[in-house]
Amino acid sequence: MRLGAIEAGGTKFVCGIATENGEILERVSFPTETPEETLKNVINFFKNKEIEAMGIGSFGPIDLDLNSKTYGYITKTPKKYWSDFNLLGELKKHFDIPMVFDTDVNGAALGEATWGAAKGLKNCLYLTIGTGIGGGALVSGELVHGMLHPEMGHILVTKHHEDNYKGKCPFHKNCFEGLAAGPAIEERWGTKAYDLPKDHKAWELEAYYIAQALVNYILILSPEKIILGGGVMKQEQLFPLVRKCVKELLNGYVQTNEILNDTDSYIVYPELGDNAGLLGAVALALTIKKGL
Ligand code: ADP
Ligand code: ZN
Repeated sequence: MRLGAIEAGGTKFVCGIATENGEILERVSFPTETPEETLKNVINFFKNKEIEAMGIGSFGPIDLDLNSKTYGYITKTPKKYWSDFNLLGELKKHFDIPMVFDTDVNGAALGEATWGAAKGLKNCLYLTIGTGIGGGALVSGELVHGMLHPEMGHILVTKHHEDNYKGKCPFHKNCFEGLAAGPAIEERWGTKAYDLPKDHKAWELEAYYIAQALVNYILILSPEKIILGGGVMKQEQLFPLVRKCVKELLNGYVQTNEILNDTDSYIVYPELGDNAGLLGAVALALTIKKGL
């Protein structure tokens, strides 16, 4: 079976063809320009590729309500040109095959649960910390949707006592994303995040914010595995700092083996690495076949 997959990001669109076993046969990437220019490239790529189904993991916010007139749209995004764009509808005009549309992070969570770090688990969380922060969750084997879809980057966190930075979120200023996404780190310290030394104070603050968010997700969703991806998590020294801080903040309240003895294998980097987004979209396409 040949499946089409699109990881629709604010910076780039990654398109691929894969088998149902998650083997990527072809992969290309286009910069995210205007919807017209970007979709022209995407549609040309998939033409005559004989795909049977397509999965699309998209940046958001997106409309996932099947009963809504704007189902399949990217809704009110600050990303120039993309507000109210009917992404799914445009693809459907060109390809008469079943399509599954979801958030990029829900896709990534499902991909990791199918082939990666959370393989075989029915409950996991995927969080990306990059230009923005977003989270996807698999709970009891189902991706979490609801009224809209989770917006895990915009939860409120307590400021670190040494942090004087005002925050960067245009809606909430000092929400989690406003304090901890890549652009916030860069504005706070006045330098590119990857240029900050590994022992810089920046990472202690960053770990504190990530850990607070994870504690909230742990308490609400009870994931069996937490996967942290995105550009900022390329800073490997964050992982031990985050694990330690999560334990400190939970303070013995959650008495599971994962938290008490095994945070090293509980809070992890995506096993699918840079393919997490694309394979996530493949996993979304596969849900059609499974009739989910
Ligand atoms: P996007 O979120 O646009 O899909 P990324 O996940 O790569 O893309 O996130 C990009 C952001 O992550 C940049 O704004 C930068 O601040 C940060 N970033 C990228 N690479 C690194 C790195 N090696 N170390 C720390 N921060 C990084
Ligand atoms: Zn916010």
